[in-house]
Amino acid sequence: MKNQKDSKQNNVNRPSPLRGDRGGLLSRLLRPNIVSLKPYSSARDEFSGADAMFFDANENPFNAPYNRYPDPYQSELKKKIGEIKGVAPENIFLGNGSDEAIDLLFRAFCIPGKDNVVSIDPTYGMYQVAADINDVEVRKVLLKQDFELDVPGLLNTADENTKMIFICSPNNPTANVFREEDMLKVISGFDGIVVVDEAYIDFAPEKTLMHKLADHPNLVILQTFSKAWGVAAIRLGMAFASKEIIDVLSKIKYPYNVNLLTQEKALEFLENAQQKDDWVSVILREKERLKKALQQNPLIKKIYPSDANFLLVVVDEPQKIYDLLVQKKLIIRDRSKVAMCEGCLRITIGTPEENDKLIETLKELS
Ligand SMILES: *Cc1c(COP(=O)(O)O)cnc(C)c1O
Repeated sequence: MKNQKDSKQNNVNRPSPLRGDRGGLLSRLLRPNIVSLKPYSSARDEFSGADAMFFDANENPFNAPYNRYPDPYQSELKKKIGEIKGVAPENIFLGNGSDEAIDLLFRAFCIPGKDNVVSIDPTYGMYQVAADINDVEVRKVLLKQDFELDVPGLLNTADENTKMIFICSPNNPTANVFREEDMLKVISGFDGIVVVDEAYIDFAPEKTLMHKLADHPNLVILQTFSKAWGVAAIRLGMAFASKEIIDVLSKIKYPYNVNLLTQEKALEFLENAQQKDDWVSVILREKERLKKALQQNPLIKKIYPSDANFLLVVVDEPQKIYDLLVQKKLIIRDRSKVAMCEGCLRITIGTPEENDKLIETLKELS
């Protein structure tokens, strides 16, 4: 890296919050202002005890429990998530949706107007939006024709100012998981952060990279409660990474970024993980049924393989079919303007009744 010498020198007088930073990875990658940042210290940081009386935070003493600021560390929730995911709480960041984690990663690592990130294309639109907000260039690398990763393309597009590579697996909107060996080649071959967004991984749980987390200090895995868990409304996203990366995200987040209602609701749903698994089974069964039905429909020219809870299908006149469905109050996603997705519509799997309605309506249109 070009300015490594300078920034090393600057580091000399800094309090180093990066103990345990293996190989100096983070001190090299993080923005210098983030390394030296002293986080806001809330009253609740200094003491939290079950039977204490709080005269410290200027809250209203009435209306418990909503009168009190929530746990800024989300300790109970992280403990529970850690048990389910098989990771230590210190390797978990919780945010207001995965979107918060994406934004914080940009703010932690990318110097506006200077650094860049590399992303697969097509993929989830939020990486670009978060980059634009932070004035960071996104270098897009098209997937291969079969929607697999272009490993050399990704690695060769990175330069000395590339801080992160974004991969989404299963990918939105192409619906496929990438080969583990390909993702590992990117993670091992790049000396910056690799973010693997696993928002849809509950629909293909055997394809997760979570078991590789401990081997790769530059890997960040994103997951969410918005899809399989069925609680998009409570806004809760997860990032899994080394303790050092999690500490940085925790240091720069708003102190009370996950509110009490969300923490309580999430704990309630986590107690009943069986419900989530049951939903996933129904959705996967329905996906196969919808796929078979659409294969019979002459409007549908192609259905891509899906490891997620949606189907990407090809039609001749995507805009027209989209509009006709909207008239019937059936809302799908027109992805036909997206790179490599000519003629593509994206259809989320609904309830059995909803899928029946969609199948029937598409039959009438054909
Ligand atoms: C839906 C989705 C998310 C979820 O974002 P939240 O902010 O957690 O709701 C994340 N990544 C991808 C690729 C998605 O499609």
